[in-house]
Amino acid sequence: MTIGMWGNPMESKAMVLEKFNQPLEMRSFPIPRLKEGEVLVRVKAAGVCGSDVHMWEGRDPRTRLPMILGHEGVGEIVEVTAGKRDTHGNPLRAGDQVLWNRGVTCGQCYFCKVKMEPSLCPYRWVYGIHTSCADPPYLTGNYAEYLPLDRKVDLFRIDNVTDLDALVPASCSGATTAHAFDLAGMESGDSVLVQGVGPLGIFSVACAKSFGASRIIVIGGTEERLKACEGFGATLILNRHTLSREERKEMVMETTHGRGVDVAFEMAGEPAALKESISLVRHGGCCVSAGFGEPHGTIELDCFHDIGRKNLRLQGVWVSDSRHTHMALELMLSRLQDFRKLITHRFPLSKANEAIRVMKTKEAVKAVLLPQNP
Ligand SMILES: [Zn+2]
Ligand SMILES: [Zn+2]
Repeated sequence: MTIGMWGNPMESKAMVLEKFNQPLEMRSFPIPRLKEGEVLVRVKAAGVCGSDVHMWEGRDPRTRLPMILGHEGVGEIVEVTAGKRDTHGNPLRAGDQVLWNRGVTCGQCYFCKVKMEPSLCPYRWVYGIHTSCADPPYLTGNYAEYLPLDRKVDLFRIDNVTDLDALVPASCSGATTAHAFDLAGMESGDSVLVQGVGPLGIFSVACAKSFGASRIIVIGGTEERLKACEGFGATLILNRHTLSREERKEMVMETTHGRGVDVAFEMAGEPAALKESISLVRHGGCCVSAGFGEPHGTIELDCFHDIGRKNLRLQGVWVSDSRHTHMALELMLSRLQDFRKLITHRFPLSKANEAIRVMKTKEAVKAVLLPQNP
């Protein structure tokens, strides 16, 4: 690594996706000089997300090659321009540990300013998703040693946490789950169904518990992840490989006085899971669907039985904003011992391809890259 005149690094290694389905390649890029309001972070941990796998496979229409993957990160501030504050109003300084909201929004449009839903901002972009490294500032993904952050990025200062890497999921799956709960209108004492046991599903169990759910029913297919859900407070675990759809329905009805759940969270990204979720919601209940990050098929609904007669509220969820990152981060900090266990695999930056592989095969619940490790 080259060090500049003032002790700051001059360049940064990064893992670059040049061709779909081909190994990422390590490259070096110059670190740009900061403009007003910008922050340079040394990336301590970068989360490897299921959507990184989809991008690597070329299934995400937003991908522009060549690019540096990675939209989930935590790090330490190396340089910050004067006057920059975190979301609590703390002035930020070199050496502060931070997590940042992955989306950058315009702050001026109808969705940002009038409807207060920045996650729907048509100009929203995300480091490591919408960015290419072909042009300056090159370093635009978290699979890198350093990342310069735009002046519009919201930062959360994290004090007194030693294993920062455990917090990485707060910036993506945690925040999206918090958004789902923000929209669900759930009440304390409600019964909840969670479909899917990836990071979104596991977070949903933790959120449901903290929102005061009376019953938390989980449907999933990976035994180890179902166990993790139990650890977070699930009260009924239904393995879809060993129980038929009819058996699952029977068990859900039995535990909800024959009504179905008050709120169902579809976190699987499978059309069949959404259909099943709707069928297990009580009359007047709510079905929240947050599992679909890309086009993945359709379902057929009976307009009368599934929607009208049921007085169903069907709520979609698209990404998240800083409000939700805050919710997820605070939830994680309150149960860090539990959340720490979700990081099952850690790799140095040079092993990013192995990290993608263990996420693709579902060997890992969550893999992170530690770019400061050799
Ligand atoms: Zn993600
Ligand atoms: Zn906007």
